[in-house]
Amino acid sequence: MVEVVIQENSSLKHKPWFNHPENPDRVRVLTATLARMGFMKYGFSRVDADLEESLRVAGLIHSKEYIERLLEYSKKGRFLLDEDTYISNDSVELALEALHLSYETALKANDIRFLIIRPPGHHAGRRGRTRGVSSNGFCLFNNAGAAVIGFRERGFKRIGILDFDVHHGNGTMEIFYKESILQLDLHQHPDTLYPHTGYPDEIGEGEGFGLKVNMVFQPYTGDDSYIRALDYVENIIEEYNPDSLVVSAGFDGFRGDGLADLNLTEASYYRLGSLVREVGVPTIIVLEGGYSRGLENGFRAFLEGLTGVAREYSNSITPRNIMRLNEMVNRAVYEQALKRFGR
Ligand SMILES: [Zn+2]
Repeated sequence: MVEVVIQENSSLKHKPWFNHPENPDRVRVLTATLARMGFMKYGFSRVDADLEESLRVAGLIHSKEYIERLLEYSKKGRFLLDEDTYISNDSVELALEALHLSYETALKANDIRFLIIRPPGHHAGRRGRTRGVSSNGFCLFNNAGAAVIGFRERGFKRIGILDFDVHHGNGTMEIFYKESILQLDLHQHPDTLYPHTGYPDEIGEGEGFGLKVNMVFQPYTGDDSYIRALDYVENIIEEYNPDSLVVSAGFDGFRGDGLADLNLTEASYYRLGSLVREVGVPTIIVLEGGYSRGLENGFRAFLEGLTGVAREYSNSITPRNIMRLNEMVNRAVYEQALKRFGR
């Protein structure tokens, strides 16, 4: 079963005081889409964690110093953490609620839960900005990380993370880089997009060695090339055989969404949804990016795939030279990954 949970307050708190793509309207768009689809299995979370408990969870992922710094900034009312990331008086409160909801849902869920939460989290590393990256990319606390911790506390041993936001999930990657967790991240090529990390040769260290898989796509990549890589992703997940899955769902790779240069359409997101459904393990999906068209059309197609609604979407086409380049790189990534942990 698939249940969508909308974080209470996510359409009310953490409001920019200037024009910014990450704002409460995003949740209104998603809620309207759910209503239009006639999707019945969604509801609103209630905030039932106290501050102390949320801070305890945050402390399992982030450094004490970083958490204290954010709490301090939130007292200022309006504060720019960096050129991309704003903090209004209730931002840290909402971010802690999102973090706790991810954690708590992972402690309980046996099926698929899609959490519509704000702000996004996958760029937030242990100490906030990760090495060499210019900003927190709209993120405060790492929600995907909290879901991983929840699953771990339940005793899951083979946790997988799939991040299909168009930007590399550098925060999540940093947090678990040396840990025995499969991390698959599909994103626009780091030469061409923030945060400029997530190259194919970043494959993990220590216990995590070989378990970090970065698939990259050149600008103008369409569904045909992307879906080819999803076949590889599916095989890698099958080989790894996870007992639980955390998905960082970003819809900003959708054509014309505004912040990136991929030309993905419904076909890719439908396929992503089907792929997640077919893994068939307890799954927490957390909302990351997606700001305009992706939030409407990408989200809808993803949910159709996730719930097994039969649909036929036609592929957008990738220019031939880009198709070749993507295929060359991602095929090598795939083959290396299988060599490292394939049966
Ligand atoms: Zn993104």
